Amino acid sequence: MATALRTDIPQGRILIRGAHLLTQDDRLGDLFGDVLIDDGRILAVGPALDPTGATVIDGTNRAVLPGFVDTHRHTWQGAIRQVGTGWDFPKYRQHIQLTWGPQFSPDDVYIGNLTGALGALDAGITTLRDESHIQNSPEHTDAAIAALRDSGIRGVFAFGWPSIDSNKWMLRGEATHPEDIRRVRAEVLADDDALVTLQAMLRGPELSTLEVTTQDLALARELAIRSSMHVGNGPWGPQFHGIGSLGDAGLLGEDLLFIHCCTSDDDELKMLADTGGHASVSAAVEAVLPGLGAPATGRLLAAGIRPSLSIDTEASVAGDMFNVMRAALLAQNVGISIAPDTYESLPAFTPADLLAMATIEGARASGLDDKTGSITVGKDADLIVLRLDDANLLPANDIAASIVGAGHPGNIDTVLVAGQVRKHRGRLVGIDIDDIRRRAEASRDRLFSFDLVDG
Ligand SMILES: [Zn+2]
Repeated sequence: MATALRTDIPQGRILIRGAHLLTQDDRLGDLFGDVLIDDGRILAVGPALDPTGATVIDGTNRAVLPGFVDTHRHTWQGAIRQVGTGWDFPKYRQHIQLTWGPQFSPDDVYIGNLTGALGALDAGITTLRDESHIQNSPEHTDAAIAALRDSGIRGVFAFGWPSIDSNKWMLRGEATHPEDIRRVRAEVLADDDALVTLQAMLRGPELSTLEVTTQDLALARELAIRSSMHVGNGPWGPQFHGIGSLGDAGLLGEDLLFIHCCTSDDDELKMLADTGGHASVSAAVEAVLPGLGAPATGRLLAAGIRPSLSIDTEASVAGDMFNVMRAALLAQNVGISIAPDTYESLPAFTPADLLAMATIEGARASGLDDKTGSITVGKDADLIVLRLDDANLLPANDIAASIVGAGHPGNIDTVLVAGQVRKHRGRLVGIDIDDIRRRAEASRDRLFSFDLVDG
């Protein structure tokens, strides 16, 4: 990527001074003070820290939070973003799973992932679990990983399956997980302390079968990586009981992240809680895609699970966490209006709870809470600085409520990932946005030239 020359970018030892810190660290809570960063890590948090040797970022009228953690995004669809706003699942399947997915080249995957990751950084998402089901060849896989690395985001590459021959891989497909994940584990993403690490995106008992999932989970656990799977997907939840069938087989565990859980029943959520598993609510997609089911936020809380949040696909919804936080809140309160018997007894959640779900709970669900998810001394400096004096937020009467209720990516002034400034004064750093736009347009134009395939 061409690098725009900007000499005003803070680097090295950085002090964010005099800001509202929403730390998401239970011992610190919310406080007014400073954050000192050095060597990529948080060195100190507190009032009036010594600025010696540090570049100072003025925190006046600023809120500082840990970067958002998106626990589930099919990032490869970044350059076809919003094409399916308002689609139902059959339309999504026809366009993306049957028509465009098989036609994606490694270059399309690269620019899709780069576009998605940069959009995430711009929106204050510093950790992205890339649920990548575009492993059409090893070159596709390598292109996806290269784009995550080039973006500068903290990436979890969740290795999925090919987007070719959809009936083999999905809808109760009986193929087991692609063996190329062994090459990636051994040769590409062997280091679990790197900025981009490996996990597995498995299909699970609803998209494949319990027998397939048993083998796939054994492979992931042999490779010592965490796994995710989509469950509680509309009618398949009550039909196949993804979580329940894994629980009955003794396969649940702390290393598993279950995505959606919309139609997983309460007994399944209890099994998930009892085994230390994690959940990801994609409230915006769940609200916008007919038939997927209602966001399970309140039901998960009732079961004792604090969920993480995720975007899912930019083909259908915006790629920022503000939209997802608001969708979770809206869905819960629409539920009280239309199904009071179900929703009135569920735990309520506040804007502060939603910020925790969007940060520290995402880090826990990704197995990265030793590195990110809170403003804690010793963790990597994955931080965002929000302007509270922008026209849409001032005078910021309740900071958490203001951010959740009215925040948008344009309010994010500065983004740091492991102490590296990736957005500064409201603009992404070190990228040539015109070049990226041209490549995204070329990819989009090529994919849109194919005739639609009927399912
Ligand atoms: Zn998904």
